[in-house]
Amino acid sequence: MIEASSILKGNGLQVETQYSILLEELLELCRKNLPSVDEDLIRRAFRVSYWAHRNDRRASGELYIAHPLTVARIYVEQIGFDDVGVAASLLHDVVEDTEISLEFIAATFDEKLASIIDGLTKMSGAFENRDITKAENVRKLMLSMASDIRVIFVKFADRLHNMQTLGSLPAHKQFRIASETLTLFTPLAHRFGFHSLKNQLEDFCLAYIHPEEYDEITTGLRNTQNDRDAYIKSFIEPLRERLSSDGFKFDIYGRSKNLYSIYRKMKRQDKPLSEIFDIFAIRIVLEGEGSKGKEECWRVYSIITDLFKPIPERFRDFVSVPKSNGYQSLHTTVFGPDGRRVEVQIRTRDMHEIAEKGVAAHWKYKEEVKSDDQEMDRLLTWVRDLLEDPESENATEFVRDFRLNLYDEEIYIFTPKGDLFTLPSGASPVDFAYLIHTQVGSHCIGAKVNGKMVPLSYRLKSGDQVEIITSKKQTPNPDWIKFVVTQKARSRIRHWINQKRREAQSLGRDSWNKRSSRAGLTVSDQELARVATRLRFPNLEQLFFEIGSGLYDVNDLVKAVKASHQEELAAKQEEDTLRLQYETFLDSAQSTGKPALLIDGELHSDIKTDYATCCNPIPGDSVFGFLSRTGTIKIHRVSCRNAPNLILNRADRIISVEWSRQKEVQFVAALRVMGEDRVGILSDLTQVVSKNLKTNIRSITISTEDGVFEGNLVLYVQDLDHLRRVIDRIKRIEGIHGVYRFEEQGDDA
Ligand code: MN
Repeated sequence: MIEASSILKGNGLQVETQYSILLEELLELCRKNLPSVDEDLIRRAFRVSYWAHRNDRRASGELYIAHPLTVARIYVEQIGFDDVGVAASLLHDVVEDTEISLEFIAATFDEKLASIIDGLTKMSGAFENRDITKAENVRKLMLSMASDIRVIFVKFADRLHNMQTLGSLPAHKQFRIASETLTLFTPLAHRFGFHSLKNQLEDFCLAYIHPEEYDEITTGLRNTQNDRDAYIKSFIEPLRERLSSDGFKFDIYGRSKNLYSIYRKMKRQDKPLSEIFDIFAIRIVLEGEGSKGKEECWRVYSIITDLFKPIPERFRDFVSVPKSNGYQSLHTTVFGPDGRRVEVQIRTRDMHEIAEKGVAAHWKYKEEVKSDDQEMDRLLTWVRDLLEDPESENATEFVRDFRLNLYDEEIYIFTPKGDLFTLPSGASPVDFAYLIHTQVGSHCIGAKVNGKMVPLSYRLKSGDQVEIITSKKQTPNPDWIKFVVTQKARSRIRHWINQKRREAQSLGRDSWNKRSSRAGLTVSDQELARVATRLRFPNLEQLFFEIGSGLYDVNDLVKAVKASHQEELAAKQEEDTLRLQYETFLDSAQSTGKPALLIDGELHSDIKTDYATCCNPIPGDSVFGFLSRTGTIKIHRVSCRNAPNLILNRADRIISVEWSRQKEVQFVAALRVMGEDRVGILSDLTQVVSKNLKTNIRSITISTEDGVFEGNLVLYVQDLDHLRRVIDRIKRIEGIHGVYRFEEQGDDA
């Protein structure tokens, strides 16, 4: 059990003098570079780190504490953000490498520091065995994992010291770490605007990745040093005098370019080193602040171009339009003495701080920075907000809650082997499984996230390491559709469901065919579709699917079909009976000499005739007349539902009638149409009736329920043939399972 108090008091562990001195130097740098310093915090962080690493040594052989001490020093000097970051630098390796736990950090210091250490610990694991060819993804991962901006800052300082001490590692490790630094860290450092740190990292990378070119460049620089210094001096001196006499306060110096940028120039422009060395670079840093400083930049630019001839196309104005990472400067290239080219940078002290330290410079120096890069803008807005009032509670909240979620829309997931995959945020293990392979997705039965079992509907987080557990017996679950977010997973699951559906349908059809032939039934698909509709199935496919998947008993279908046959038989028998009775009646009427009334579709002048609205007879229908109490003869269809009653009970009023000839008269007929409720069925229906058959529609009403479509059409037709044509044509519309003539409700009985 570790006693925090005894560690902090230093009981039983004497700090070696050289490290005590380094600590004091660190504190001195903090006082110089940071807005405020909690010295006690830094001393305690040092004590805990010293104690935790007491038995560890670096590859170089020195005591391990030298590393966190140097990281803290780099942090203060090159980033200079705040004292909490310094404490975090001192403690950055303790949780990963020693017995100290996060809980210990939280209890001994606070939650904030513990969360930074947690981020640092996680992040160091994030690069292990990573495929850095997907560098941009790994960089995004780093940013999305950082719960606090200082996690990234300390990581930069840590990496710089690792690069500085890379010489003590075996060669293969040197190469790997240098490559990792070049692909992952330098672009990020650039994005944050840590130029000086980025340049140092790049130069170390060059030394380990391209040692020959590194030697060539450093040797070349050394050999030409005196000559170059002399030339720079000859350029600077007259300029210095002129600027001083004009009253400027400034710093002017020859700027040594970073080795890596020289290397890049060599490669890109394919130029010999001597030619690149022939370009000199100087920088003028003005003391003026704000808009006055800006104005001074332009005045100095004007003076330089008075003294030396500029190359116009090399002029760049990053003062009016800063770079996305906040960088500001005026760049120009002029012809110096002997016609040699000199690159000149002009900037204010504030701009210089930002150019060197990036966003961290805002901590100390207020500067209005414009940017159209959204990500950086957010970051800078945050820093700016902090600067409004660094003392306020609000500012502290900001630091604590700030998350570097620059990539909200994507998450980064690892396989157990360390391969990186990008998924949309909200993705589940099922999405991940399908992303790996369709077979993995289809057979997944479970998932482990960071070693723990989770439900398949679990929402993955950036950095999660996901292991998919599969089983040959497992098949996709239709419920997965509810939580998957990727197109691939969704379409594969749907595909599977449809396939299963088709299989079940064909199974259902087979089962029906067998069962119906055993029952001695011969049923057409059309008839079966009518029965299905009556059983409230939207279509035959659904019926077969439900039979095939055991949701509906095929025996019930047999029963329903038999019942339907019986009903039809009964209806036919009833009609036959009726017809027989009517024919008998007609015979008897004729035999008694009663004349048959001829009707021609028009109202008789002498006899009032009318068409019964209970059955709407039309020419060609079998009809009879019924003498009503008012003396009007109503014409009914023989099949009218009121016919049996009238014929059998009021035979005395029945008059036999026949259609005489056909006239261009329109009769009303009503049809009931049933089928499946699919898109466009109504328009197909009206299209067929009104366009194809040129038939007028008096009214149309439709209702849909459970996927079943039911429509009542009232049409104007000329005669029965016309109506039959309409019915035949409607039956052929896709999805229509039944068309029946029916009588509108009337009261003509
Ligand atoms: Mn470290």
